[in-house]
Amino acid sequence: MNGYSLFRRSRLRLALWYAGVMGVILSVSGLGMYRAMVQTNWAAMEREIESIAGTLHDSVEPLLPASEEPTAVLQQIFPDLCLSGQPCKATPTLIQRHTIGISDRTTYYIRLFNHQGKLLAFSPNQPLSLPPTLNRSSWQTFRTANGIRYHQFTTILHSANTHHLANEANSSWGYLQIGRTLEHFDAEIRRIQWIMAIGLPIALSLVATSSWWLSGLAMQPIYQSYQQQQQFTANAAHELRSPLASLLATVEAILRIPQSNQQDMQIMLHSVERQGRRLSHLIADLLLLTSLEQNSGAKPFQPCCLNDLVSDLTEEFLELATAADINLKSQIPTCEVYTLGNESQLYRLVSNLIANAIQYTPRGGYVTVSLVKSDYTAVITVKDTGIGIGLADQERIFERFYRVDGDRSRKTGGTGLGLAIAVAIAQKHQAILKVESQVGKGSIFTLEMKVLSSSILTN
Ligand code: ADP
Repeated sequence: MNGYSLFRRSRLRLALWYAGVMGVILSVSGLGMYRAMVQTNWAAMEREIESIAGTLHDSVEPLLPASEEPTAVLQQIFPDLCLSGQPCKATPTLIQRHTIGISDRTTYYIRLFNHQGKLLAFSPNQPLSLPPTLNRSSWQTFRTANGIRYHQFTTILHSANTHHLANEANSSWGYLQIGRTLEHFDAEIRRIQWIMAIGLPIALSLVATSSWWLSGLAMQPIYQSYQQQQQFTANAAHELRSPLASLLATVEAILRIPQSNQQDMQIMLHSVERQGRRLSHLIADLLLLTSLEQNSGAKPFQPCCLNDLVSDLTEEFLELATAADINLKSQIPTCEVYTLGNESQLYRLVSNLIANAIQYTPRGGYVTVSLVKSDYTAVITVKDTGIGIGLADQERIFERFYRVDGDRSRKTGGTGLGLAIAVAIAQKHQAILKVESQVGKGSIFTLEMKVLSSSILTN
């Protein structure tokens, strides 16, 4: 499987996981909200029915007759109710009188039963299919033949004459039943269900799209780093192949030389040694770069004297500079400048810069290494009057294996990893490594890092 399809599959899997988790969260919270909404509306509706029932109950109870056959009296109290077993005129106004303040009064109906559960009176808008018998449970929900649901509440009535017996068995005068159609309630619920049925798939498809986009964003840096890694491996293999090939060719040539020709043999063995050293140098650089990135085996940072670092390195490179006919100088302040870091890594960084400056400066040129301290920072500058670096190359010289002039650099023993190592060390020390250069005039490499305050040093 190639890298691209591996990343595509990982992206797809990540997107599916995102979408799945988000989808479950969205669905569960949507359903939770739906249930909460239904329950709130249902409770509000029951409260409304109870409050109407209470109002009716309180206003009707004092007027109730004690008689067993109360039809005549009931007709006086409830002129708008239909009496059981008598013809009914359909002008329901009583319930309207008692339900002032309720938005839709026609949705309510009332029924009156005697204490044996026999229907005495009812409002004309009661559901037609309602049985004339009493169901004594307080709350009932039922559905009529035409599919409309009703919800009703039943409460006990006591007449003025039976009121004092309220707690005794069979002390009730009868029952008041008040109910309402659930048509509007069900319509509202259906509307919410439709919104959810349409909205949820839309939301889920939006989640799926954004998951795909987000997983793409998440995979991007990993893909880039994978590509860089692949490029690095290819470059490393290429860099190793050339010296190895020439080393093998030299060894083959040695094997073909007759034993007697010792002088040629010596020259070739020197060449083998050179190639071997180059290989070992390259492998050491690669290992150093890897350990810098992995931060493995790193020693804890310690105070490092930058004055010593600059003077030691200038001294060390003096011989090389003299041999190349280059004037190497250093400028160091009198006060000591300390930074917190790994001394050998900082030596490696600055020595790379000085070695490059000497390498890329023609004979008779100048290389100056200076150290300047400000309040919080120390700046080491390596300035040369060498060949300089073009603007486009300045952005790339810190990449691994990048060389402005590959052949020239290889001839001088460069691996193309020097500045990549320098930048990795600088990053580890939270330092900034910059270059300014002009082709034909020279280059200035600056390393800016934090200084260690003298109070920390004295403690
Ligand atoms: P190398 O080992 O090839 O020197 P580096 O990473 O140290 O690799 O440098 C990368 C490239 O940057 C070099 O090949 C060279 O072309 C350019 N370079 C670095 N320092 C200088 C400098 N002081 N003057 C001109 N070119 C430089």
